[in-house]
Amino acid sequence: MAMSLQEREHSSFVIQPATAEEAAKLLQSLEGEAAIVAGGTLLRTHWEAGTAAIPRYMIDLGGLPGITGITNSDSGLMIGAMTPLSVCRASSLIQNAFPLLTEACRSIAAPSIRNLATLGGNIVSAIGDAIPALLVYEAVLCWHDGMQEQRELLADWLRQPRKGRILLRVELPFSYTEEMNSNMKRFTAFHKIGRREAFTPSVVTAAVDGWLDTSTGCWGKFALRLAGAKRQRPGWKRSNSCCRGTRLEQHCFPKCTPKFCMNLSR
Ligand SMILES: Cc1cc2nc3c(=O)[nH]c(=O)nc-3n(C[C@H](O)[C@H](O)[C@H](O)COP(=O)(O)OP(=O)(O)OC[C@H]3O[C@@H](n4cnc5c(N)ncnc54)[C@H](O)[C@@H]3O)c2cc1C
Repeated sequence: MAMSLQEREHSSFVIQPATAEEAAKLLQSLEGEAAIVAGGTLLRTHWEAGTAAIPRYMIDLGGLPGITGITNSDSGLMIGAMTPLSVCRASSLIQNAFPLLTEACRSIAAPSIRNLATLGGNIVSAIGDAIPALLVYEAVLCWHDGMQEQRELLADWLRQPRKGRILLRVELPFSYTEEMNSNMKRFTAFHKIGRREAFTPSVVTAAVDGWLDTSTGCWGKFALRLAGAKRQRPGWKRSNSCCRGTRLEQHCFPKCTPKFCMNLSR
């Protein structure tokens, strides 16, 4: 008689490394037989659908120091890869400086899933709805490859993902909002297109952040990032350069909207 999913999961071995170095080396040496299991919410959908095999070894990162939680530094906010989406959603540190990420976490699945699902798992899946929000904020990913820590822009990783590494944390630089002053009025928008009653990746998810100088009526910053299951769009690079300094009513939307729509429909 065929084994149930639970029986097959129970026949796997769970390994709990104590350091990121150990975790990355295990992942590399057990290639093809081991997987990092964070919240397991996305992996489980693959196992249930039969689109991925249950690995013989499940690597649990929960014991790694500093991999869970949100901390403030002088330069930015650091979010551990194992931080649950529910914690990100409730964080006032994130809400105050990076509101699109709060909105993205709010939009993902139901509360019971968000209690398990991690920000790291959402990113490494490469189809997660947190990605466009993080791209807007020029997020930096911090990895361990078994030898050393490595930092790279999320946008660069999406262009060229590398396997066999452990995502330790995401860094959101405060420099992103440095140009804002009391004359600036901030606008943010987050929108998903896709059916999610049962999980299927969104067709497209859009995140927009910008601020308008109320004394001149010109955009100080305007960033739009799109992502979707069919194709990653790690940036609509010209969104900021074509809007910055243009007046809202005169030039901005005639220039921006057709490009935005073209990107969506392509
Ligand atoms: C009912 C339901 C609804 C959902 N709705 C949404 C939705 O609306 N939007 C959305 O984006 N997602 C959705 N999901 C998918 C999933 O819940 C999220 O993407 C979640 O954030 C994945 O995180 P996780 O911790 O569960 O990842 P896991 O399933 O544990 O892992 C996902 C992948 O990331 C890898 N990984 C995880 N952490 C690390 C790390 N630190 N270093 C290296 N690799 C790592 C794993 O090996 C695996 O390949 C839904 C899932 C379900 C079941």
